[in-house]
Amino acid sequence: MKTQVLHAANAWLPDGWASDVRIEVEGGRWLAGALLDVRADAGAVEAEPIDGWVLPGMPNLHSHAFQRAMSGLAERRGPADDSFWTWREVMYAFASRVGPDDLRAIASQLYVEMLKSGYTHVCEFHYLHLQPDGRPYADPAAMALALVDAAQETGIGLTLLPTLYMTGGFDGRPLAERQRRFGHGVDGFLRLVERLRMLEDARVRVGVALHSLRAVPADALRAVFDGLAALPPARSGLPVSMMPIHIHIAEQVGEVEDCLAVRGARPVAWLLDHAPVDARWCLVHATHIDADETRRLAATGAVAGLCPTTEANLGDGLFPLREYLDAGGIIGIGSDSHISVSPVEDLRWLEYGQRLVTRQRNVAADATRPSTGETLFAQALLGGARASGLAIGRLQGGDAALPSVGARADLVVLDDTSPLLAGRTSANLLDTWIFAGNAPLVRDVMVNGEWVVRGFRHRDEARIAARYRAVVTRLMNSA
Ligand code: ZN
Repeated sequence: MKTQVLHAANAWLPDGWASDVRIEVEGGRWLAGALLDVRADAGAVEAEPIDGWVLPGMPNLHSHAFQRAMSGLAERRGPADDSFWTWREVMYAFASRVGPDDLRAIASQLYVEMLKSGYTHVCEFHYLHLQPDGRPYADPAAMALALVDAAQETGIGLTLLPTLYMTGGFDGRPLAERQRRFGHGVDGFLRLVERLRMLEDARVRVGVALHSLRAVPADALRAVFDGLAALPPARSGLPVSMMPIHIHIAEQVGEVEDCLAVRGARPVAWLLDHAPVDARWCLVHATHIDADETRRLAATGAVAGLCPTTEANLGDGLFPLREYLDAGGIIGIGSDSHISVSPVEDLRWLEYGQRLVTRQRNVAADATRPSTGETLFAQALLGGARASGLAIGRLQGGDAALPSVGARADLVVLDDTSPLLAGRTSANLLDTWIFAGNAPLVRDVMVNGEWVVRGFRHRDEARIAARYRAVVTRLMNSA
């Protein structure tokens, strides 16, 4: 197998920035035993020089790809007070028109945008399973396979999370007309998971998602875990016991109140009492948690999946970031509804939300790592990789004992000729990118050892954008 050798002028390693780094890739993975901080000399194996600032690719831990095509359509005031619940009606109306070919076109465009913004992996929380009238497609996995196709076409890594969605509320009411496309029984859901697990490879990982506590009754939750334990091994050889498990947990105050009324506990507390929550879990929108839930959730090793631009757009509320980090909690970021597709903007707003309510600055940073940008970036890499269920989010560290060795070779290169980065050093590079960057700085992107973005352009972006324009224009005209 041919070894690819890169020589990075500056690279962000697990311990921080290093200069003159030799990076070796074989079979799409960081090679064990490679050397660090080696000055390139004339006798060395010809290395591809990388000017610019080399960072690990960021995992995006929460995405509903189809929603990219409706971004911007719910920003007009309606007759009643606008809220998450009125936004959801717009989303349902749009979702009712998207078929597999449409989803493939939308997701491919979205994934190109993600790659160009610095995301190299995406977790798809996928619940658009059925035809608009509620019947299955001839192939029940047709919509999920459209997402896999889009990932393969664009080169982004994918954790596909087929989502169980059974009821329309905590009281167990059936799904409403506009939710019919999402529905599954537990058995059909497990069959879908089993089928999709056969697709796992270096770029595609399969986990499961439970839509929310309001959509999955307590007995179904137990049945899912029993059923998962009985699944045969996946093609990748990764055991069921390592599958990532995601859930929307406490996004809305109304959801917390309903859970308290029907199940006698707040959502996070109820989940911790009734499910084997550990580091495989990602609790998306753990927005409304009290002090006790904060401490208990942090102790599990689960990831709090935060989507600051979507949560701001939907008026959800703010997560208690400082308290959660102080308790040792792990976070990651997702672009969710894709009102914005940028790790920079999501990390920036994660911090800005906290500054606005606490009237303090540099809330995420602490004494051990004073740079807010570095703290946020490192946290989101760690949590994003954990939520993806894969060894990603780290450049190899040159030490066979480090888990980053053998991790998938994903990286992004920031353009060091940008005026924004003039005079910047490793001490302030990430702070500058995250807080001051509006012009795109991601020049090159590698996933699984393969360059997919070079010189600010994705290898197939013109064709993918043309197809997206045609599909979305037709969807809008059919409204
Ligand atoms: Zn979501």
